[in-house]
Amino acid sequence: MGSEFAYNFVFKVVLVGETGVGKTNLLSRFTKNQFTLDSRATIGVEFSTKTTQLGEASIRAQIWDTAGLERYRAITSAYYRGAVGALVVYDITKKPTYECVERWLSELFDHAHPHVVVMLVGNKTDLESDRCVATEEARQYAEKKALLFVETSALESTNVEVAFNSVLSEIHRRLG
Ligand code: GDP
Repeated sequence: MGSEFAYNFVFKVVLVGETGVGKTNLLSRFTKNQFTLDSRATIGVEFSTKTTQLGEASIRAQIWDTAGLERYRAITSAYYRGAVGALVVYDITKKPTYECVERWLSELFDHAHPHVVVMLVGNKTDLESDRCVATEEARQYAEKKALLFVETSALESTNVEVAFNSVLSEIHRRLG
C-alpha cells in the first residue's frame, strides 16, 4: 500500500475566527511544530494536512486556514463545504474577538456539514496577565452551545495537539 493511501479517513477541518487570534500559528504548530512572530504577507485560502493515529484508525486531517480572507469578509461557501470539524478561535486577551464568536458560529452552521464538530478555542494563554476573557465564562458558553472547549498557546505549544486531536476523535466517533 502506497504511503499516500495509508490512512482510513480524510476529515476536512476549518479554522475560523477574527484576524490575529492565532489561527495560522495553531495550524503550523500542529502540522509542522513551528511558530512565527511575523504577520503573514500572503492572502488566499490554504490548507495543510497531517495524519494521526487514533486507536486503530489512521486519520488524515485536511485543515483549512482562511489566510487573511476573514479581514475582507470574503470567506466563501467553498471554504466551509464538506467541513466536518471546526476550530472557532478567539484571543483570550482581546474581548472583541470573543464577542465575534457568535457570528462565526452562525456562518459556520449555515455552510458546514450538519453534524460538524465544533471546538471553541481560547488562544494565547501565555499572555495570562493580559487576559480579558475568563475561562469559566467561555466554558459555560461552550457548554450552552454544545461545543468542545479548550484554551491553548500556539507560542508555548500548550494544548494544541489536544485541541486538534479532540476534534478529530469526536468526528471519528460520530461519523467514522
Ligand atoms: P491569524 O490571523 O488568526 O491567523 O493569527 P496568526 O497566527 O497570524 O497570529 C497573529 C499574531 O499573534 C502573530 O504575531 C503571532 O505571532 C501571535 N500569536 C499567535 N498565537 C499566539 C500565542 O499563542 N501566544 C502569543 N503570545 N502570540 C501568539
